[in-house]
Amino acid sequence: MLKAIITRLAFVAALIYCSAAWAVTGETAEFVKLADDVYAYVGKRNDANAMVIVTNQGVVLVDTGNSQPDTRDLAAKIKSVTNQPVRWVVISQYHGDHFGGSPFFMPATVIVHDRVAKEIAAMKPYQIKSWRKRFPERSGALEGLAPIDMVMSFPDRMTLQLGGKRIELIYVDDIYNTGDVAVWLPEQRVMHGSFAAYRERHPDIRPDYSHGTTITMLKQLEALIALNPRVVVTAHGPLGTVTDLQIMIDYLLLARQKVRVMMAQGMALPQIIKAFHMNEFKDWDRATHFDWMAETIHRELSGQGPIIVTIKELQASGELTRVIEAGRNLSLKTSNGQEIRLRVTSDTNIEGAADRTRLALGMKARVLYKEPEDFNPALGYDVIELEVDPR
Ligand SMILES: [Zn+2]
Repeated sequence: MLKAIITRLAFVAALIYCSAAWAVTGETAEFVKLADDVYAYVGKRNDANAMVIVTNQGVVLVDTGNSQPDTRDLAAKIKSVTNQPVRWVVISQYHGDHFGGSPFFMPATVIVHDRVAKEIAAMKPYQIKSWRKRFPERSGALEGLAPIDMVMSFPDRMTLQLGGKRIELIYVDDIYNTGDVAVWLPEQRVMHGSFAAYRERHPDIRPDYSHGTTITMLKQLEALIALNPRVVVTAHGPLGTVTDLQIMIDYLLLARQKVRVMMAQGMALPQIIKAFHMNEFKDWDRATHFDWMAETIHRELSGQGPIIVTIKELQASGELTRVIEAGRNLSLKTSNGQEIRLRVTSDTNIEGAADRTRLALGMKARVLYKEPEDFNPALGYDVIELEVDPR
């Protein structure tokens, strides 16, 4: 029985693999018309996507661009199709690459799920500082403003009726859904699928459940598939259709099944992590997500909640010896030869460079970063403060 399921899933995966010769999105972002007054901003190289709905009462923007240059580019593309100002910003998931550009559009109203509103209200002083100085050209609008000041939130569903357009915001309830909001235009059958809508990119789920769980994703995907969207703006990756949501369900079921089988064979977690892969989806982006995915599924299947991580704040200084993903991922080599892998988030307070895209190899840097105890920092340590010597 088990074997039959795996064979079937592997078969599905093989089919998907065969049809998936395309790779990531292009080198530059694209602005694509999806329906009258509805556009997708498809991020470069699988960066976060955004959706734009133009109404005669103002623009509704869903997500805000991956980095400062992307946000400015997104704003310019909106300007190229309308004179209406961005009056509402819906955040489909509370991660830096979706929320981080929000200060650019102030004083727009930021619409989020209640759980996200709580997080925004609890932002630390360094995060608020970083939010406020992220766009120097908007400093006038941001003066004295805190991120929570512009927030409107809702518990499960919310409908905007603007200039004759109906825009439905959907939260699919799950204990570990940290506030993902899908945006649905029933008349155009266009959807922003939020976190669960991946295409050709391995999902970024983590053992601390900060991005939900595979069950959370499956619940969301089922609810979204039921609406039968014509076009799906994915969180990352090319635009999709309802079929891509179905592929993601198959993907997650296969991933869960693989871990379940290894657990049944008595393999310990480190062995499972080592053996786990999703190579059936060979051309997909971000195979770096496998370790955390295996560990997350292992926790889910053994009925554990999220890993509770104690975080230490550490300082280091040295030279940047690796700068990739437009400054998102760095390596810092300290004077005693230690190499520390770091992640610049949208909350990172950067001094000495306008933003992370200006970071370069060989820069002298001082950092304050978070070291989680007993936690595999698969993508590097998150940086709180980063100071570089200006070039
Ligand atoms: Zn993202």
